[in-house]
Amino acid sequence: MVAASVPRALKALWVMANLDRLRCMACMSQITLEGLQVSMYPHEDGLPAGDDDPEFRFWVYYTCPRCGYQNAVKKILEGRVEP
Ligand SMILES: [Zn+2]
Repeated sequence: MVAASVPRALKALWVMANLDRLRCMACMSQITLEGLQVSMYPHEDGLPAGDDDPEFRFWVYYTCPRCGYQNAVKKILEGRVEP
């Protein structure tokens, strides 16, 4: 797994949405770049705020515009295979 951080996660979401590869894990709706809504809050099991900031962690998620499910970005990144 590639070391994740909030900025890397945001970029990965942008790329996945732009390639039509981002879905809601609950209802399987496609999340478009225009429909991508990302939120975060401080959480000890979240992603580091930066590559050198392991003590500042945020739980990052995107909300499905169709069903409202809050998709944990950490799970998306962990299930992702890097080329
Ligand atoms: Zn959904």
